[in-house]
Amino acid sequence: MKNNLLVQESNAEITDKKVKVAIAEGDGIGPEIMSATMDILKAAGANIETELIELGEQVYLSGNTSGIKSESWDVINRTKLILKAPITTPQGKGYKSLNVTLRKSLGLYANVRPVSSLYPFVKTHFPNMDVVIIRENEEDLYAGIEHQQTQDVVQCLKLITRPGCERIIRYAFEYARAYGRKKVTCMVKDNIMKLTDGLFHQVFNEIALDYDDIKSDSQIIDIGAAKLAAHPENYDVVVTSNLYGDIISDIAAEIAGSVGMAGSANIGANVAMFEAIHGSAPDIAGKNIANPSGLINAAVLMLAHIGQIKIADKIKNAWLATLEQGYHTSDIYQEGISKKKVSTEEFANEVISRL
Ligand code: NAD
Repeated sequence: MKNNLLVQESNAEITDKKVKVAIAEGDGIGPEIMSATMDILKAAGANIETELIELGEQVYLSGNTSGIKSESWDVINRTKLILKAPITTPQGKGYKSLNVTLRKSLGLYANVRPVSSLYPFVKTHFPNMDVVIIRENEEDLYAGIEHQQTQDVVQCLKLITRPGCERIIRYAFEYARAYGRKKVTCMVKDNIMKLTDGLFHQVFNEIALDYDDIKSDSQIIDIGAAKLAAHPENYDVVVTSNLYGDIISDIAAEIAGSVGMAGSANIGANVAMFEAIHGSAPDIAGKNIANPSGLINAAVLMLAHIGQIKIADKIKNAWLATLEQGYHTSDIYQEGISKKKVSTEEFANEVISRL
């Protein structure tokens, strides 16, 4: 198993060893999309042993403001692998985002978010879009350093370190090389934040020199985000800091078809966590209409990461065939393109029937 880079068929160490995975069912649509995903993993023969962990809204509301039970940490420390459905973070005071806590405490420094369009089967203006956003996952404005200065003045510190920049930028170039990608684009705002974003850009320029087989360029994040939204086909791998990466990966997923489609990997030196990029979607929770694709894709990334490549491919192909044959959840349903509007559960069954 490779711990620090997602694998693909060409360079994977293929294994069918049974692997333990901590499963977090999440909040909102979490339990519905997790159930759909687990049914698919089971039907496909994924060689995993699952252990449920408790985290999220119910844990917060029970008075544990960390949002995670201590027993869950024990399981994570044992499995070192997590498949997690989205959780609801209570807004405002008193609750620190558990997602941020998990990423920081487990050292999950790289957040990898591949987004590609499935035109003509899923409606998009961008038939040739195939971009991977690689987001720094521990620093920046998400480091969680916020202060109340006075009653009317609050402060959030933006933390950028050279080792943090080096790790994520090198990861992005290594990823590009491993996956046969041609270009890495850096996006930051160093015309304004000259020290913090300036450091990220400077380290990018230095590391790019070690990869003369991969093209590199840089864009200021505001125009970069606009151009990504208008011409995503011009981008290959984008590396950026935490907040910008969070925003542009949602934009990328939405313009590819739906924010409900993309999965992501959170990679650290010893632990890896896989999840959909979207949130817990409380507006559609409990209705059996959510698109489980983001979590299914996260599970596919997880299987590839642990070397169960054949199973990962089997699921990915069945998922693609289901979409190509027009079985669509309501977020991507289109008259004239889709064949049938399906529920979360029906979508999973259609995938299973194509395994
Ligand atoms: P969201 O991603 O949950 O929802 C945004 C919109 O996209 C909603 O209209 C929703 O219905 C739709 N949507 C999202 N996923 C979908 C799916 N799979 N199928 C169909 N439609 C889908 O964002 P939000 O409403 O801003 O956040 C809700 C909660 O989720 C918040 O508490 C937030 O903190 C949390 N959140 C958690 C994570 C995570 O656990 N990784 C990530 C982002 C947000």
